[in-house]
Amino acid sequence: MKTIRPSTLFFILILASVGIVTLTACQPETTESGQPLPERMEYAIVLHGGAGVISRDIDDEVRDGYLASLEEALTIGRDLLDAGGSSLDAVEQVIRYLEDDERFNAGRGAVFTSEGRHELDASIMDGRDLNAGAVAGVRTVKNPISLARNVMEESRHVMFAGDGAERFADMMDVERVDNSWFNTDRRRQQLERARDQAALHDGTQAHPDVHPFGTVGAAALDRDGNLAAGTSTGGMTNKMPGRIGDSPVIAAGTYADNNTCAVSATGHGEKFIRNAVAYQICAIMEFQDATLAEAARIVIHEKLDEGDGGIIAVDYLGNISMEFSSPGMFRGAADSDGRFEVAIWE
Ligand code: ASP
Repeated sequence: MKTIRPSTLFFILILASVGIVTLTACQPETTESGQPLPERMEYAIVLHGGAGVISRDIDDEVRDGYLASLEEALTIGRDLLDAGGSSLDAVEQVIRYLEDDERFNAGRGAVFTSEGRHELDASIMDGRDLNAGAVAGVRTVKNPISLARNVMEESRHVMFAGDGAERFADMMDVERVDNSWFNTDRRRQQLERARDQAALHDGTQAHPDVHPFGTVGAAALDRDGNLAAGTSTGGMTNKMPGRIGDSPVIAAGTYADNNTCAVSATGHGEKFIRNAVAYQICAIMEFQDATLAEAARIVIHEKLDEGDGGIIAVDYLGNISMEFSSPGMFRGAADSDGRFEVAIWE
């Protein structure tokens, strides 16, 4: 009988184990029910510049200005993610750009309170560990989103408001401006119209072209699979001093969890707080095994009333949702598959 030499046997064993390892590695990963796991996009980003009654009759020049600004913000975020930057950096940089553009109700373009001043709110959240930072009612911070990020990264708290937020800003390296720096003629006229309207209608009904809301926000998935979301706003035209909306409230205006999705909301803040809108979308995905599209549809069209506003969101696979029930929402979306689009109406 022929005997196999130990060295040959060893060689055969090595070949067999390499074969087994290769075969295992080539098997597509599957879900519990044996379906192949869906592929994750390399990166994706989505942003908004507020939802509401946006008249289709605006001048072409004004419309093009909005679209160009949304495109520029989207390009900043897309390029940053494409170069391997983090979702947190993309969200912060996109929002800073929109805060500096006076077209949008955040940062420089913030609306007036009923006392003719400006109180700004912002929040940001990291989907890796649910860490979050928020500021509410700040009056001298040029880019509240960056102060919110400082709260998240440099303090042991989640939210600072009013004087405490200003004092925290004193300790941080964030740019400060006088409150009057946020004054713009357009917002002043909106305040005057809102006051007239309030006098006429008991303060409950806004004139259709007053457009009392507006906010900016972004959500992103980066190449490492990390999600982040952020939101920044001047709040509501003619709001009472001290009023805080959903934008700085984690779970209402902003939420991010790597297991589900990252969301930024815009609309009637009081209703978004009552419905924990941003978190509820993540929760429906997690506990009802719904897709992002289904979860967003349920919350925007079933839990809220038509016309209340909208959300932008991206899930852990890079799927994007831009769901709204108002006549329009300034928005944009881009991803690693080459998608790049901005829009205002349906
Ligand atoms: N949600 C914001 C607020 O209530 C406003 C908006 O998004 O238009 O402060």
